[in-house]
Amino acid sequence: ISKSAVEKLKRTKQKLLTLDEYTDGILSCNRTILGQAITLVESSLAEHNEMAQQIIEKCLPHSGESIRIGITGIPGVGKSTFIEALGKYLTGSGHKLAVLAIDPSSQRSKGSILGDKTRMEELSVDPDAFIRPSPAAGSLGGVARKTRETIILCEAAGFDVIFIETVGVGQSETVVHSMVDFFLLLMLAGAGDELQGIKRGIMEMADTIVINKADGDNLNKALLAKKEYENALHLFPPNESGWYPKVTTCSSISKDGIEEIWEIVEEFKEKMTGNGFFGKRRQEQKQLSMQSSIEDQLMSDFYSADVIKKLMPDLIQMLQNNQISSYAAAQRVVEAYFMGKFKD
Ligand code: GDP
Repeated sequence: ISKSAVEKLKRTKQKLLTLDEYTDGILSCNRTILGQAITLVESSLAEHNEMAQQIIEKCLPHSGESIRIGITGIPGVGKSTFIEALGKYLTGSGHKLAVLAIDPSSQRSKGSILGDKTRMEELSVDPDAFIRPSPAAGSLGGVARKTRETIILCEAAGFDVIFIETVGVGQSETVVHSMVDFFLLLMLAGAGDELQGIKRGIMEMADTIVINKADGDNLNKALLAKKEYENALHLFPPNESGWYPKVTTCSSISKDGIEEIWEIVEEFKEKMTGNGFFGKRRQEQKQLSMQSSIEDQLMSDFYSADVIKKLMPDLIQMLQNNQISSYAAAQRVVEAYFMGKFKD
């Protein structure tokens, strides 16, 4: 029996609570209820989604009071060790931390490899931390929406620091960047070429680059790498927010440099709140997310319309036979869609 089948069984077995029970539960930080509400957000059942939207609406006025931090890096760079180290530091200094994940590989393979409970042994039993693995299925856009909504629920539950973890291998970094206040790129010293296959675009998104595993024999290499990355970052045009991306080193095992990373985050938040960019970036993110939801909904309505399903195969055939141009074919289906839509 597959993991997704088990999930499905769990979902259908889960009895729905009332809207008030969900909202009261979340606002009082009842973790079981928070988890159940997130399951509704992730569900593909219409009934669940409807309830989820109502819960989100109730939670929205209580959301937003957090710092949302994206954490990315190649597999093996030490993301979960780092999150455990920084996370324990944060809960130890009075913060409440939620760790969410966006895992592009979970769409292809079975389970999710991120946010896995066993990967963060101490945090997973910390009463001030909440770890939620990546939603297991769906398009990147769908996973992004679910994560955005999960952030709202976690904030309403009182989590004031939100980590969004992703593997630095694909387009998911861009998606994470579009939902966080601060983007942290974890890197290694001396692992092959200077940029380790991390694309320039991802480095450009980083508010801070952290060179992990700066310990033992690796310490000097890490300090050297820090210089190199600082030089590399200088080549990028300055950020319009006035923030100069920082480069720092840490060891997630000895915890050296962990506290300093948090100081950078706090400095960032203070500066960005002061010059208005913190709020501005969030407003832009909300608007872009609305736009992409509109696009998703239109696309799914379009491709599921009977008239389109009927028309497409013929038009594709005509296209292959050079009987119609791709532009004209597109025009025909779009016209047919709107005719079908507004005929009554
Ligand atoms: P992830 O795949 O990015 O989540 O990486 P992990 O957190 O699983 O770490 C990969 C390996 O690197 C593990 O064996 C860790 O123990 C090790 N590791 C992580 N952080 C450090 C560090 O700061 N110093 C050293 N020496 N090893 C580390």
